[in-house]
Amino acid sequence: MRRVLSVASECVPLAKTGGLADVAGALPAALAGQGWEMRVLVPAYRGLAGRFARLEPLWSAKDLFGGPARVLAGRLEGIPFLLLDAPHLFDRAGGPYLGPDGEDHPDNPERFAALSWAAAEIARDGLADGWRPDILHAHDWQGALAPAYLHFAGIAVPSVLTIHNIAFQGLAPPGRLAALRLPEAGHAAGGVLEYYGRISTLKAGIALASAVTTVSPRYAAELARPEYGMGLEGVIAARPGAALGILNGIDTAAWNPGADRMIAVPYGVRSLGRKSANRTALLAEFGLAPVEGPLAVVVSRLTAQKGLDLLPEALPGFIAAGGGVAVLGAGEGGIEAALNAAARRFPGRVAVKIGYDEALSHRMFAGGDAVLVPSRFEPCGLTQLYALRYGAVPVVAATGGLADTVIDANPAALAGGVATGIILPPPLDGLALRQGLARLVALHADRRAFQAMQRAGMRQDFGWARSSAAYARLYEGLLP
Ligand code: ADP
Repeated sequence: MRRVLSVASECVPLAKTGGLADVAGALPAALAGQGWEMRVLVPAYRGLAGRFARLEPLWSAKDLFGGPARVLAGRLEGIPFLLLDAPHLFDRAGGPYLGPDGEDHPDNPERFAALSWAAAEIARDGLADGWRPDILHAHDWQGALAPAYLHFAGIAVPSVLTIHNIAFQGLAPPGRLAALRLPEAGHAAGGVLEYYGRISTLKAGIALASAVTTVSPRYAAELARPEYGMGLEGVIAARPGAALGILNGIDTAAWNPGADRMIAVPYGVRSLGRKSANRTALLAEFGLAPVEGPLAVVVSRLTAQKGLDLLPEALPGFIAAGGGVAVLGAGEGGIEAALNAAARRFPGRVAVKIGYDEALSHRMFAGGDAVLVPSRFEPCGLTQLYALRYGAVPVVAATGGLADTVIDANPAALAGGVATGIILPPPLDGLALRQGLARLVALHADRRAFQAMQRAGMRQDFGWARSSAAYARLYEGLLP
């Protein structure tokens, strides 16, 4: 087996704030089937080491960005983890990126530079058990300095950088260059580290990795354009072949309505009728009235990216037409407040739970008739994939992975039996969402047509087989 070191700031089941964690956790098993042994290097955030029955120290450093560090190897849920145990950086209150006050940890650049540095050292020297990667695969700005450190040290291990979201660029003030163990030269204007006078770890990774990928073909094309590239479109476009789009898969064992222990009643394509028991249970759980129209659910970070600030103004017509809405999410205070206000305005028809709840998210996909994902941009998006698998019709914006994975219920697609959801036509605004919800109401009223759509979605294959084969091909092409 060839070996690949994955470098990620979050990975299920240890730490998750978004889709990156799902992808990082799914890749090792998916790639094993392709002849690649992947180990995942993640920070040992507070309490994580205690979740392993056995951990073996395989690497150490006396001073990793201000304190001693070790790498501890252990398996959890079949995933071969390498925990970067550096208490001065990771053993602290708060989440992976934010302190208890909700602000970024002030030393985030150093924390994830340390993760990247350890990865590059492991790539150069290997671990104490003799394991040395043939390829280093870094994720997002947190891992993006790993290809840069390999490059600056002349270490000949090929690297892949996957961009899960270009909005997060790992920016740091230029004064931190030395603290991040980066060369002055790279920070000249237009240099590989320089982003409008600041340091961008993501830019460095994009410029210096052997290959750059992102998580859907459509987002790959979007990234080379100013509307989506967020200032890095030029760096992407300058790469031969720009970014390669490899669609994320989902864990079809964890997300299987036929065998999901977290939902009220399991069901499948041929027993779709049983989904209604989950709908009833979900309505009760949210204190919603038994609505005649579609029950639309939202499971999302509540940030501007996700477009849910557009929801309140689209609600009155949808509610009047018999719809109901259940929201699970957390994020920006203004969006949380607006959704809570909508719940007060439409008691029994709109309900909101602020928080993060994995089990409840399963019950929402199982109970919902539709899932709303009106994102302004969406690199891949996992929620619409879970929605499809659970027979909840996705209502999505025409962007990124949403556009790549949902087939709009236009007349031709409906007639051909291939429609799986509703794509909101651009420009994305309150009107587009209102009209999309009106289409949802109309489709839902035609019971047979709606069930045909649900079944078409459930039959789609979003497992990892195809995508992991694409990663394996990419790795093989990079080997010396
Ligand atoms: P992003 O990574 O931008 O947040 P994705 O759709 O790629 O968006 O992945 C989001 C993941 O997080 C999905 O697995 C989704 O179900 C989950 N998720 C988001 N918010 C919540 C929440 N409040 N409770 C439970 N799961 C959530």
